Amino acid sequence: MQLVKTIAELRKSLAPFRRRGARIGFVPTMGYLHEGHASLIRQARRENDVVVVSDFVNPTQFGPNEDYARYPRDLARDQAVAASAGADFIFAPSVEEMYPDGDSQFFVEVGSLSEVLCGRSRPGHFRGVATVVTKLFHIVQPDAAYFGQKDYQQALILRRMVHELFFPLRLVVCPTVREEDGLAMSSRNTYLSPTERQEATVLYQALQQAARLLREGERDAGRLRQAMLAVIGRAPSSRVDYVEIVDPLTLQPVPRCDKTTLFALAVFIGTTRLIDNALLNPDGSERSASDLFDMSWPTLPS
Ligand code: AMP
Repeated sequence: MQLVKTIAELRKSLAPFRRRGARIGFVPTMGYLHEGHASLIRQARRENDVVVVSDFVNPTQFGPNEDYARYPRDLARDQAVAASAGADFIFAPSVEEMYPDGDSQFFVEVGSLSEVLCGRSRPGHFRGVATVVTKLFHIVQPDAAYFGQKDYQQALILRRMVHELFFPLRLVVCPTVREEDGLAMSSRNTYLSPTERQEATVLYQALQQAARLLREGERDAGRLRQAMLAVIGRAPSSRVDYVEIVDPLTLQPVPRCDKTTLFALAVFIGTTRLIDNALLNPDGSERSASDLFDMSWPTLPS
């Protein structure tokens, strides 16, 4: 696996592959790789001839009071994880490489999908994400790009962006990888103290409680939401940012769960903000986001 730090070098390295028609798979990350990232890389490996992983903590998607400066970074470890999951290139540019003009004049604006859920508490976040992912798509020009369902709103927004802006690639959403006790893997889990780490399981337990109640026949979103809040309340260090039951394509709240619904939550455990979600059918079974998105926005033939 090759470490590449500049756009020019990556383009030069990929050119021979492109010439011979190799399929390029791309996994964008902010580094500090864990098994969730590795599962995306492995899926890209299975479905492509060349796999590129990007490792870049993107400043424009962090708010002024967020954790940009202390976000965990370890390129040496990332290289080992990416290589063993099957990556061919790890692209780790500097901020200056990705934002060569300090006063950027161009951004990708996102509509109402960015004003709800995480977008409400993180204004500008999805604009930063859409902008950096557009830059990365232009740099790598992949045939397929892989994202995790853990960041459902991000995956939805990027899938709509690929669809509306005619990016010539397939966007694949991979299932959320969890720790044994259900906590969704995240680079931010490293911020948690041992007690907080235990309490953090309430996010997944709340989603499981919703699935259980659906199985028992409950369809009322208000009651399901209250039940989720009760589970979260068991963790003394928890503070709810949002717990929402929404339409999985518009992200608008629904009164009842009579079709596939997104259960999404963001909860502070101590000072660490964690997110999780589940796409649940009315009978409580889980549906994959990839399946839902493929039905909603079929991939254009390239
Ligand atoms: P990040 O480095 O947190 O920006 O994540 C990079 C990519 O990995 C995003 O598409 C995430 O959705 C995905 N990802 C992060 N954590 C997980 C997880 N636990 N399971 C599946 N995908 C994940």
